Amino acid sequence: MLRKKLIAANWKMNNAPTGFDAKDSSYRTKSDVDVVIFPTFLDIEKCTKAELIVGAQYGRPEEKGAFTGDESMKQIKTSGCTYVLCGHSERRIHHSESDAFVAEQVIAAIDCGLIPILCIGETADEREMGQAKEVVKRQLETVLLATSHQLQARNLVIAYEPVWAIGTGKTATPTDAEEMHAYIRSLLSEELQNDMRIIYGGSMKPENAKDLLSQKNIDGGLVGAASLDPVAFGKIVNSAL
Ligand code: PEP
Repeated sequence: MLRKKLIAANWKMNNAPTGFDAKDSSYRTKSDVDVVIFPTFLDIEKCTKAELIVGAQYGRPEEKGAFTGDESMKQIKTSGCTYVLCGHSERRIHHSESDAFVAEQVIAAIDCGLIPILCIGETADEREMGQAKEVVKRQLETVLLATSHQLQARNLVIAYEPVWAIGTGKTATPTDAEEMHAYIRSLLSEELQNDMRIIYGGSMKPENAKDLLSQKNIDGGLVGAASLDPVAFGKIVNSAL
């Protein structure tokens, strides 16, 4: 099966860029490339009203309750989102999210019909110590085990995001990224292997997007800084065509 490319804009804690809602906005999904944006919770409604495909940057697994400042997966789904990020490294670092908690998020997201984008990736120290594959395997297998009863290729996306490449301007070489993507694919069951999308994140920009996106096992990109510039983001989307 041909895996349709997916380019995701992670706006993090930034306002929606000017012109995001224009008719010809680069944030609109295309027939050949899925485009999804991750605004702050405050901007979700205006993005769904603008008929963009929208995801939340985080969701809590419980349906409701005493979790000040959080939103549940169910509430996110009700707000019109299609996707949700789970286990982004900034959440793992600043909010101490564990592999087990990320797995709970993924289960809850799938249960309520959201498509989680599971973020996995090693730190610079882990890579230097030769532990990159081991770390990625642990992060992925915790989720695969917990979700084995409900997992289908279309209801989960994996994002390989080496932590050392996020927001740093350093990008994994296409060869290094491809090697890790092929490894991640090899960890998937036979039923999922061909069809599950594995996207790359870490300082993707117009200058490197084409080389990364033309690798056999790289099915798209999760874009942070460059996604705040509609022109740069549009060039990345075009690189996926
Ligand atoms: C990200 O936030 O997921 C990301 C990849 O950021 P950047 O593109 O800025 O490295």
